[in-house]
Amino acid sequence: MSRKLKNLKKAARQMADGQPRCGLCGKTGKLTRTECCGQWICDDEGEYVLFSYDTNSCSRNHRRYTLCGYHHNEGHSGDWQTCAKCRADFEHELEMYVYYGTNEYNFEKLKNPPKFKPTCCSKCGRRINLGEGGYSSGSEGYLCAACTCAKYPELA
Ligand SMILES: [Zn+2]
Ligand SMILES: [Zn+2]
Ligand SMILES: [Zn+2]
Ligand SMILES: [Zn+2]
Repeated sequence: MSRKLKNLKKAARQMADGQPRCGLCGKTGKLTRTECCGQWICDDEGEYVLFSYDTNSCSRNHRRYTLCGYHHNEGHSGDWQTCAKCRADFEHELEMYVYYGTNEYNFEKLKNPPKFKPTCCSKCGRRINLGEGGYSSGSEGYLCAACTCAKYPELA
């Protein structure tokens, strides 16, 4: 089933029972409104364990991994979708701009994401997905997980 249909069902259910639900995962329960865009979202920030790299906090994900949250945190004005400052901030990592604007932590996705040059490992040339992680970046450019581990065995 496509994501669009899934969201449609979720919205219909919400309208039927009149109960606010998290706009990202559809859960009811402890909800809060996002500071950036005023949408209902799980109030689950407190459950996040520091440094656990757990990404199951809806409110944290939206605030940290979307342009909407970034735009708000940076104090930009206007809509994030058309914000020139956001775009300029990601000029050198356009892939992240697109990821931040189109991942599943968004209530509303970037309609016309710009084309970006894929990021590749500077050693082996393997494609690196910046949004998914599993890479390192430094003076020698981006390195995939395998090349990073080969270079820094202590990290593996
Ligand atoms: Zn949620
Ligand atoms: Zn937002
Ligand atoms: Zn902005
Ligand atoms: Zn590599």
